[in-house]
Amino acid sequence: MEVNGTLVWYYNICKREVWLMSHGIIPDQQDKNVDLGRFIHENYYKRSKKEIQFGNVVFDVLYETGNELVIGETKKTSKFMEASQWQLLFYLKILKDANIKAKGVLQYPEERKRIDVELDEEKEAKLNKMIDEIEAIIDKPSPPVVEKINMCRNCAYKEYCYS
Ligand code: SF4
Repeated sequence: MEVNGTLVWYYNICKREVWLMSHGIIPDQQDKNVDLGRFIHENYYKRSKKEIQFGNVVFDVLYETGNELVIGETKKTSKFMEASQWQLLFYLKILKDANIKAKGVLQYPEERKRIDVELDEEKEAKLNKMIDEIEAIIDKPSPPVVEKINMCRNCAYKEYCYS
């Protein structure tokens, strides 16, 4: 499985889930709690802007300024801001590699917050390391050990991880 924005997001929340997802382990569909994917989805505003499919990723173009694209997400909560920033930086890198000038914005209208996200050299180096580590996790024969985090309570893999 190729590294994508979703795996970058999960990497910043739970590395074990990166392995489980990338190995096609299906979470408990009967779990009354939401898994991370569903949780994220429910905390996203409905996509109403222009969506662009680029390679194996899809992202929103919020607007264009001159010859620069502004891509991003509008979300209800900034709870996972760090992970969202890296996901957005991953998309910015894909665009940069294709010589497309872009910057990113995370918008949290209910919190009256707006975070500009720009890919600089330092972040790109960190992101490249992250991508290498995600590939290394995917290549492992078994998943990273369980590390108890708050998200476990709402994760549909919890049966799998804690039984
Ligand atoms: S239950 Fe916890 S450790 Fe297991 S995949 Fe979910 S978040 Fe990660």
